[in-house]
Amino acid sequence: MVQILDGKKVAEALYQEVAEAIARQPAPRPPALAVVLVGANPASQTYVATKERRCQEVGIRSVRLNLPEHVSQEELLAQVIALNADPGIDGILVQLPLPSHLSADQVIDCLNPAKDVDGLHPLNMGKLLLGHTDGFVPCTPQGVVWLLERHGIVLRGRRIVIVGRSNIVGKPLAALLLRRGIDATVTVAHSQTADLAALTREAEILVVAAGQPHLVRAEMISQGTVVVDVGIHRVQGRLTGDVDYESVAPKCSAISPVPGGVGPLTIAGLLHNTLLAWRRKL
Ligand code: NAD
Repeated sequence: MVQILDGKKVAEALYQEVAEAIARQPAPRPPALAVVLVGANPASQTYVATKERRCQEVGIRSVRLNLPEHVSQEELLAQVIALNADPGIDGILVQLPLPSHLSADQVIDCLNPAKDVDGLHPLNMGKLLLGHTDGFVPCTPQGVVWLLERHGIVLRGRRIVIVGRSNIVGKPLAALLLRRGIDATVTVAHSQTADLAALTREAEILVVAAGQPHLVRAEMISQGTVVVDVGIHRVQGRLTGDVDYESVAPKCSAISPVPGGVGPLTIAGLLHNTLLAWRRKL
């Protein structure tokens, strides 16, 4: 029987843990997250609304800053600098992607690392790579690890293949899985990898974050593999992932669905990091 890696269930438990930690902590005010949304991308609007709803449920105050689609880089940076300096704000989330005339790298570089609850600032990335635990871990990689660990899947010493080397998912996930205490053996594949299928068939655990609908098919995995699908796509009105679930699931020992797999845990990562940012300031 294939085990379904139920991200919704794990996320609910994590939301509860964050809510309890906030309620238990004596503090002059609750945690506060600033959410910066540029333009009116419908997917971003939905993500931001979901994040804000979850914040409210666990006791995090979220403050929205809506900026117009045509905002200049200077104005956006000025807003981030103001939030950096605001003592009433613990965490800052700039919803990506930004419109094409804006540089996300410059915005991320400008964030106060102590408020960078997405964990994307170079200082936090560096800390992750060095194994320092006083930074922030990016939310989706953290979600993947929680999803596996909380289903009792052993990571220590296992051969894990990650498909995708983005700064948001693939690279930080590789660094996290290599951390002492997690101790996986990690290979990262990408768009230039020769014979991807030969590599994915060697994986005991396969994490796919390629942004290509149904890239991974049954013939690309070995019997008994654990598969985590990070991809999200809307195809003919339905959400689907980077893995061809119908054909792959029967060969797996465990698999995460889309939706209901990694997605809810990414939000749990954000709430957890906002809690950390707030606590570190107390
Ligand atoms: P990205 O486009 O920045 O990176 C994709 C990576 O996959 C690149 O490194 C590329 O080299 C690699 N790749 C592309 N095609 C490939 C192929 N044919 N073979 C091997 N490697 C290939 O994407 P991203 O931001 O990392 O996101 C990946 C997917 O995960 C997207 O579908 C995105 O929507 C989704 N995502 C989901 C969550 C979530 O919360 N569940 C969070 C972030 C991203």
